Amino acid sequence: MKEFDYHIYGGGCAGLSLAYHLEINGKLKNKTLAIIEPRAEYKRDKTWSFWKIYDHDFEDCVIKNWNSFSIRTNDNSNIVKTKNYPYQSIDSGKFYKKINDKLSANSNVKFFREKIKNTSSIVFNSVPYPSFDSFFNNNKSKLWQHFQGVEIETNEEIFDDSIMTLMDFNCEQKNSVHFFYILPFSKKKALIETTWISSLENKDLMDYDNQLKNYIYKNLSIKNYKVNYQEKGVIPLFYSSIPENDFCINIGSAGGMTRLSTGYTFLNIQEHSKFIIKNLKNLKKAKSYHIGKKYELLDNIFLKVLKSNPKIMPNIFYKMFNGHVDGAIKFLSNRSNLINDISVILKMPKWIFIKSLFN
Ligand SMILES: Cc1cc2nc3c(=O)[nH]c(=O)nc-3n(C[C@H](O)[C@H](O)[C@H](O)COP(=O)(O)OP(=O)(O)OC[C@H]3O[C@@H](n4cnc5c(N)ncnc54)[C@H](O)[C@@H]3O)c2cc1C
Repeated sequence: MKEFDYHIYGGGCAGLSLAYHLEINGKLKNKTLAIIEPRAEYKRDKTWSFWKIYDHDFEDCVIKNWNSFSIRTNDNSNIVKTKNYPYQSIDSGKFYKKINDKLSANSNVKFFREKIKNTSSIVFNSVPYPSFDSFFNNNKSKLWQHFQGVEIETNEEIFDDSIMTLMDFNCEQKNSVHFFYILPFSKKKALIETTWISSLENKDLMDYDNQLKNYIYKNLSIKNYKVNYQEKGVIPLFYSSIPENDFCINIGSAGGMTRLSTGYTFLNIQEHSKFIIKNLKNLKKAKSYHIGKKYELLDNIFLKVLKSNPKIMPNIFYKMFNGHVDGAIKFLSNRSNLINDISVILKMPKWIFIKSLFN
């Protein structure tokens, strides 16, 4: 006898998003769902940000929207207006609460801290690495986005909360790509992140606490502040093949929902959840969702260039957002048309990219 109709491994962003979409679309009225999630309690652990290129169901979890962002290199600085596609940040604590409140009202949904006997007909898996240590050790030399951020609060009004800083490259690069990212939630409160795109072999890049302290003190001239919250992460900028079978569908990062050039995943997870609900009766179709081969190919070329030419990257990112910005945002959000793609490609240094393509 089937105890549960569906199993979801991992109740993080993708697992809970899918459960939420199952619930609000009435798919759990007569069906049962087991969510296997080891964490003992849900609290804010990530800040999911993205350009709001299309609607999603978590507007009530948004901390703030920005219609401008800045990008700074040693030589240039630009403030970019994004009227059509605001940049949004979601508080993961609010997101978890909203979904868990909704699911707790349905007795067909049960949470388990450990794997239970699988008797269901469908498994959705969002566990990216069954063993993080071995995955990490086997792939250390590949490219990762690794970062740490602190939400700080000051007594004085210091931040311009109308502009978020997408990338500030005025910091040590250590032959990698390094920038600071600032989300000013108010004039007195901001999340500041030190972000690297590099392999994970060089421990020198990982003294995040010092990097943050120095940047806050020297670049932002902030002497007094308190730390409200901290987050830390590593995002692999490559796809790992996690076994699937006829009864198992990978979702979230495990299901290839991360854009390799940027690490953006949140909106892709929402689109994937909607696609699964639409095709729930046809598992074969439900398995076929991809961000797009075009983006995978272009991102891989981009990352090859980045790996062998880290010094030119600040300028490349700067140029990407110079001129037709909506096209670049659509490209980075996998919603670009051919004209948008060409306009982004034309901003890149051609010979370096062509050489990487044929290497
Ligand atoms: C700190 C951080 C910030 C990020 N910021 C952004 C952002 O701004 N914008 C964006 O688009 N993307 C961002 N990302 C990338 C991506 O959106 C997130 O990683 C997102 O949480 C991915 O969702 P997921 O469900 O695949 O993984 P997770 O949310 O990590 O969920 C996986 C779940 O599996 C559980 N688990 C682990 N082992 C097991 C096991 N053996 N059995 C069962 N469950 C298990 C974990 O506890 C976890 O809850 C960020 C990532 C991190 C780490």
